[in-house]
Formats: sequence, C-alpha cells, structure tokens
Amino acid sequence: MDTKVWKVDKHVDNLIDYPHVVDAAIFLAENEVVALPTETVYGLGGNAKSDEAVAKIFAAKGRPGDNPLIIHIAKKEQVHSIVKDIPEKAAQLMESFWPGPLTIIFNKKDGVLSELATAGLSTVAVRMPDHPVALALIEKSGLPIAAPSANSSGKPSPTTAQHVIEDLQGKIAGIIDGGPTGVGVESTVVDCTESIPVILRPGGITKEQLEEVVGEIRLDPALKDQESKPKSPGMKYRHYAPNAPLYLVSGSRSFLQNLIAERQKEGMRVGVLTTEENMHYVQADVVLACGKRAELATVASSLYDVLRTFNKENVNIIYSEVFPNTGVGQAIMNRLEKAAGHKLISE
Ligand code: AMP
Ligand code: MG
Repeated sequence: MDTKVWKVDKHVDNLIDYPHVVDAAIFLAENEVVALPTETVYGLGGNAKSDEAVAKIFAAKGRPGDNPLIIHIAKKEQVHSIVKDIPEKAAQLMESFWPGPLTIIFNKKDGVLSELATAGLSTVAVRMPDHPVALALIEKSGLPIAAPSANSSGKPSPTTAQHVIEDLQGKIAGIIDGGPTGVGVESTVVDCTESIPVILRPGGITKEQLEEVVGEIRLDPALKDQESKPKSPGMKYRHYAPNAPLYLVSGSRSFLQNLIAERQKEGMRVGVLTTEENMHYVQADVVLACGKRAELATVASSLYDVLRTFNKENVNIIYSEVFPNTGVGQAIMNRLEKAAGHKLISE
C-alpha cells in the first residue's frame, strides 16, 4: 500500500479546512487508517464505529485483539454519544483535564462503537487530545476515532512522524506529520466506573494532579505487583522494548561503571540511558542523555526516541538510570520497567 505523508503545521489557521486534513478525514470516512500527531505520542486513527477500520488498526500494528483502543473525540459533548452515563468525578476530571493527556473509562453505550474497538468490554476508554491537528481531523471526520499509539505492537511508541514511517510505512493509508509530540508518554488511564477512581496506567497527568480535583485516587494493584491481573488489558503485555535487553540499574556511579566494564570484557557493545546531569560521568560504547533529571518532563518527552536510537546503534545490552516514582516519574518508571521486562540490578 502507498502511504501518503502529509506535512501539516499545527499553527496554521482554520486547520479543519486545511487540504491535507481534509484528505485524511476522507480516508477516515472511507474506513482507512491514518497516523496523526497528538500531544502525547502519534496515534493510529480509524473510524471507531467500523469493524473494518478497527480491524485495519489491529492488523497494521500486530496488536493483540484483547487489548481495547482509546476512543478520541474533538469536543467534550461528543462523549455523550458513546457512554451510558457520566459519573460526577468523571465530569470534574473532564472539566479540568480535557483536552489533555487523560483517558477516562466509562460504561459504554451499547450498539454505537465497533465491538472490536472495545475488545467486547462493557466499558470504553475516551480521551480528548490537546493537539490542534488531532482535534481538527477528528472534528472534520465527524466520527469518534479509535487511536492506539502508531507503532508496531511491543516497540517504543512514536513521538515523531519518522518513527511512524519506520514501523508502519506501506501498512497504512496516510501519516500526518505535525512535528514532534510534546508530552512523550501516553495518557494516564483512569477508571471512573468505581466510586473511587483507579489509575490503570500512569501517564501525562500525575496522580497528584488528579487528587487535587477529585480527592482520593487508587492505583490498580497490578501496577505494583506483577502477580495481580491488570484491569487494563494492555498492561499485561511487554511494551516499549528496544531490541537489546534493557536493565534498570540502581546504585552508585562506580557500580554502574563496573557493570559496563564486565560486559565490555565479554565483548559486548554497551549502551547507557542516562541524563544530561550524569552523562559526563559514564564511559560506555553509546551514552545517550534522556533529558534532564531535574526536569522529569524532559525525560518523558525524549524517552521513546532514545530507546529507538539504541536500536540504530546496534548495542548488545542497555543499562538505564532509574527515576523517582513521583509526578511524571511514575509514568517514566512504568514504561522503563516494561521495556526492561522488570529486570533491575541494585547495588
Ligand atoms: P494504547 O492505545 O496503546 O495507548 O493503549 C491503551 C490502553 O488503554 C491499554 O492499556 C488498554 O488496555 C487500555 N484500555 C482501553 N480501553 C479500556 C477499557 N475499557 N478498560 C480498561 N482499559 C482500557
Ligand atoms: Mg501503545
């Protein structure tokens, strides 16, 4: 399949009638799938009402069919057409964080969406992205748009159009290149079908921010305990993984340096994921700074690009710094732990 790549500047006026946005909206109406920029990562969008379109999303990504998709909307009111009810706390969260990197789980209205999109569940995940191109495209299409991250399943999520091209060129109808995304990690998924909302996946909106609006928030036990079954089906899969095995390393600089030396003695090419503050203290074959430790948002926004860069560098093993588990650090550590398959080496 020929994949069209359209460049769209997110700052132009009247995006909804911009020719490339119109072309992409026509593809969506014809049940083709199109990659689009959002403020978190690039999404692979398709008509959420159509089994044909949703099946194309799963096929292009190689995504397991039991992992439901997030439905993206362009206006808050659009949520009424796909959910049964809006609990009070969900309404408060929508008011505070939409548009933005927060996905809310509601009870689903029957008979509207493709059953494939929700993997047959009685609930539905909904988000209104905070990106002018995404909003214009969704509004122009007039549809609820199912959109998982636009990567091959299991790989790091795409934060540039180039990442999408690497994974999906030839498999999808089009890609809107709106420049690099901002937040860099996916949305927070919060289940509002329970009286106390539960975070199923940490992400761009922190637990602390949610608590300021609705008070007590729980964390799905599966986020801490690998034995529990996650309520979010997608959380059970290995994700975000670079090609080489990744280990999280908690310890002093000399501890890390010794590990590197041991692997190099075995003939390995060693990569290290570190930060601007620490990169000058590490000697390895490939040392990549993933933002600044002092500003965790910069770590989130470069994480997936750095993981993908290690693939190009053909390293045999990657050691990564660990980050504090607070604020957006919770999302960063969740993604790194998954990418590492929970392999942690402590001093
Ligand atoms: P992605 O589309 O790759 O960002 O992943 C979406 C995440 O939302 C996955 O972890 C899904 O399992 C989760 N999700 C989507 N719909 C639901 C739902 N109805 N209930 C719980 N989790 C969901
Ligand atoms: Mg994903």
